[in-house]
Amino acid sequence: MIRASAREFAENYIRPHVMEWDEAQTFPLDVFKKLGEHGFMGILVPETYGGSGLGYQEYITILDEISQVCGSIGLSVAAHNSLCTNHILSFANEDQKRFYLPKLASGEWIGAWGLTETGTGSDAGGMTTTAVQDGDYFVLNGSKNFITHAISSLWCGFDKCGQDWHQLSEEHHDSGINVLGSQFSILHPSYWIS
Ligand SMILES: Cc1cc2nc3c(=O)[nH]c(=O)nc-3n(C[C@H](O)[C@H](O)[C@H](O)COP(=O)(O)OP(=O)(O)OC[C@H]3O[C@@H](n4cnc5c(N)ncnc54)[C@H](O)[C@@H]3O)c2cc1C
Repeated sequence: MIRASAREFAENYIRPHVMEWDEAQTFPLDVFKKLGEHGFMGILVPETYGGSGLGYQEYITILDEISQVCGSIGLSVAAHNSLCTNHILSFANEDQKRFYLPKLASGEWIGAWGLTETGTGSDAGGMTTTAVQDGDYFVLNGSKNFITHAISSLWCGFDKCGQDWHQLSEEHHDSGINVLGSQFSILHPSYWIS
């Protein structure tokens, strides 16, 4: 049933336009809203946070069906569900989960995750981005590349301070930066798509 529903989605909403999007280099935002309506933007998120509450078998099945029609959209769905949303699900505190997860799971927000830097990818310990507390704020300093959805999304980023993982525990919803506990920080770009 999950496979059939993902296949139907891909055939109806993706396949008819896939070459047009590819040639125009367009990001089909409407499709991501529709993916949210169908429960594909919060596949692993429990229903209490507005997600579909499914497991990894279903997650892979959905990605398989979407990616057979468009690998790019498949990658986007994977980055949103796994890289951004799942890190929040795994490591955020309860308030943060209640704030972020429903909007991510519905597709209202599109998530990104910033690990890779010019000098480091697989070697995550080599990253040089830092988050330094300055009063009520954290100043993020560094650069990231190869970040899926980098210009269109809610960020869940990695930072490092000196030789140790920076332990962050506060959040500032209105500051432009939101900080999660346990090694993660989230950046709210003012230009994200809503
Ligand atoms: C389509 C796409 C989307 C991406 N989206 C994101 C994203 O959303 N967020 C994000 O943070 N990053 C993203 N990335 C970046 C991706 O995570 C990195 O490219 C990846 O981690 C590899 O890092 P690297 O490019 O620095 O290569 P390297 O880590 O330098 O690897 C280069 C080569 O060395 C090999 N190698 C690495 N380490 C070792 C080792 N210890 N022993 C032996 N061999 C080794 C690798 O297998 C590879 O062949 C994306 C990349 C692509 C292609």
